[in-house]
Amino acid sequence: MPTPLDFCPEQHAAVITVPAFSDNYLWLIRSTDARQAAVVDPGDAAPIEAALRAAGLTLAAILLTHHHRDHAGGVMALKAAWNCPVYGPRGESIEGVDHPLDDGDRVVLDAPGLQFDVLAVPGHTRGHIAYFTNRLGADPRPALFCGDTLFAAGCGRLFEGTPAQMLVSLGRLAALPDDSLVYCAHEYTLSNLKFACAVEPENGALAERLRQALARRAQGLATVPAQIGGERATNPFLRAGEPAVRAAATARLGHAPATEVDCFAAIREWKNVFQ
Ligand code: ZN
Ligand code: FE
Repeated sequence: MPTPLDFCPEQHAAVITVPAFSDNYLWLIRSTDARQAAVVDPGDAAPIEAALRAAGLTLAAILLTHHHRDHAGGVMALKAAWNCPVYGPRGESIEGVDHPLDDGDRVVLDAPGLQFDVLAVPGHTRGHIAYFTNRLGADPRPALFCGDTLFAAGCGRLFEGTPAQMLVSLGRLAALPDDSLVYCAHEYTLSNLKFACAVEPENGALAERLRQALARRAQGLATVPAQIGGERATNPFLRAGEPAVRAAATARLGHAPATEVDCFAAIREWKNVFQ
């Protein structure tokens, strides 16, 4: 059993973190023979090329979660260099995508050990998808690549979707196994945790998580991947049904939220203006 208080579990040996821009993480996932890799959300081609070279890998596929430039900006250069398939959401128009995906689809790559189930998770954008795999290589823990939908201790802004859509999307991710590692696309964890502590000041697990995240950031370490079990215990956007989160939304709104969607929407709007 995963310990629910380890908020920054060791990542899969198959996954390589590639930082880009100011706070993005691009993800390389190695095949089981460690010769090929898939990349998730290459917003920039140059750091991916450098990481492939350093690890002696060829690029087998590009997986996209949504259309934003910081996620898809490197697609055409990588596709030209590697002539590889590009998977992405059918519901969004992204240059270079030649394998459009719908909810429930399975991506099976020629590279050994790489296959992913597709979940539609609209909210941040209208067509946003996430990629889930039961295991990676010899590591029995599941892995979720969720772009800008679920963040460590937070969630993406609602640029194109509604609070109701995002709540359903986050609920699907929260229902994944506790020990699933969450490979989200940004290092937003500290600011998310400061907000989460304002929502739930009495949540002891949250205080512990903030302590761990501060320690890691002070050493220059990433706080991603996170873990679904830890998210359920501390992420206010997965906890809109909890009495403490309802109480915070009530104080914010001046009246009790009528529904869980109203509670979620109030918390999300508060986060938008939280300093
Ligand atoms: Zn985005
Ligand atoms: Fe982003």
